[in-house]
Amino acid sequence: MDIDALKNELCYKPKHASAVVDESIIIEADAFAEGYKNFLNNAKTEREATEAVLAEAKKNGFVEFDCHKKYNAGDKIYYVNRGKAIILAVIGKKPLTEGVKIAAAHIDSPRLDLKPNPLYESDELALFKTHYYGGIKKYQWVAIPLALHGVIIKADGTKVDVKIGEEEGDPKFVISDILPHLGAEQGKRTLSEGIAGEELNVIVGSRPFKNDEGSELVKLNVLKLLNEKYGIKEADFLSAELEVVPAFKADDIGFDRGLIGSYGHDDRVCAYPAAMAAFAVENPEYTAISVLTDKEETGSEGNTGLQSRYMENFIAYLAKANGLEVFEVLSKSECLSADVNSAFDPTFNSVFEKNNTSFLNKGVVITKYTGARGKSSTSDASAEYMGKIRRMLDEDNIVWQIGELGKVDAGGGGTVAKYIANLDVDVVDLGVPVLSMHAPYEVVSKLDLYMAFKAFSKFFNQR
Ligand code: MN
Ligand code: MN
Repeated sequence: MDIDALKNELCYKPKHASAVVDESIIIEADAFAEGYKNFLNNAKTEREATEAVLAEAKKNGFVEFDCHKKYNAGDKIYYVNRGKAIILAVIGKKPLTEGVKIAAAHIDSPRLDLKPNPLYESDELALFKTHYYGGIKKYQWVAIPLALHGVIIKADGTKVDVKIGEEEGDPKFVISDILPHLGAEQGKRTLSEGIAGEELNVIVGSRPFKNDEGSELVKLNVLKLLNEKYGIKEADFLSAELEVVPAFKADDIGFDRGLIGSYGHDDRVCAYPAAMAAFAVENPEYTAISVLTDKEETGSEGNTGLQSRYMENFIAYLAKANGLEVFEVLSKSECLSADVNSAFDPTFNSVFEKNNTSFLNKGVVITKYTGARGKSSTSDASAEYMGKIRRMLDEDNIVWQIGELGKVDAGGGGTVAKYIANLDVDVVDLGVPVLSMHAPYEVVSKLDLYMAFKAFSKFFNQR
């Protein structure tokens, strides 16, 4: 055996997916990406993602979950948690005592939430105060076009849906920044302090009511316009969830169109293929469950996040209908925590350790553990479960790689994996590498996205 052959035989070297898969797979991946881009543009918030997935679920024959019903193999059900999270399930042929297969992704993304009392006027501009949601680099959110999404519950209890800044011709919003000519003082701040949280004020108006001079007439004019359009008054902001997100659309990136640039890849780039895999699975052996959850970016707390019991309760109802306790099902269950990892960045390579970092286009990334500072705050997947997932992917030539979130002690992060592990379920993170993660405009590879779909599909179709 010559040296190259021996290297091929013995050494581990992840390859560019296009070098490993057939041309037909690349064509399929490009087609799959078109549906994904459409989803990105129509589902920028957890509520919109829930709506979009729900509509698609109904088209695919899924019916609303009835917690008192006993389901049969092949049945397709959905459960919506408070409009912000959705579970899709396809009932398997095997009894629940053999466990279920769960793919868990999140549909919330870093953004700017409006404060409860957001509207004010300053120097004849009307502005919204915000409180950022999730881990953002605040300086990235100024001087870019922004849109406003969300819901307002009026005093009489009626709900108003808000979505402004997305349609052609819609007005947009913006946060100002200091011009470089006068930026000397600001330039002395550290990058993380370059823009402060209380400086993330969104400009929403500039013309006074009736062109009069007077106190707060620009604010009054904005309130009048909002009253005409939505029938709301200022106090209605107090019972609202309004989210400021980038007004960008998803685009192909690069001359070869191999990448997609968009807001919200984390974690729609896993949520979309996890949902599509649930729609594609027919008569599985094991019950297949896709959970698209909320609140991951703020620690999975709250009743729509995976630290709450809503997923466990859903499975408990399935168990109960079969005369079982939920733990009898969970202890035999397996999960792919479908979340992104950081893709190697050639420009900022110093924070990565190349042998244990995921790269764009090298397939789905398996993240054995997340956390920080000596593997704190992570469910570290077992060698046995890693081995099982690895065999599963290799069997179907699904391109995958291993990844750690940056160098040891460079930082860290977490996913929902540890909360699912707490339920006595085997779990590992499997997702898509993302460049510029948590930026208003993130980048992923079309081939990696498609490999995620193939991975979740294979996971749901295990024998
Ligand atoms: Mn994520
Ligand atoms: Mn994230």
